[in-house]
Amino acid sequence: MEKNLRRKCVEFHGHECPGLAIGFKAALVYVLDCVRNQKIAESLINELADDGLGPRRIANILNEQGIDIKYYQVAYRLKKRYKN
Ligand SMILES: [Zn+2]
Repeated sequence: MEKNLRRKCVEFHGHECPGLAIGFKAALVYVLDCVRNQKIAESLINELADDGLGPRRIANILNEQGIDIKYYQVAYRLKKRYKN
């Protein structure tokens, strides 16, 4: 574990103990899961937009898949996509 990251973990947890490593691993799993979900959401948004669907319909489909995203967040991503 990086020294600075370790210090932040100890600060957050309050003391050093074996629970620190378990908490760190749990947080890491969560972050990696978020990144994976983010990538899945991103490719689904692009795919559905290519099929001609709008932000509201795309958001509804993603919500049905268990991905919590609002239509305006979809619209923002699409706007960014078409800018590049
Ligand atoms: Zn502890």
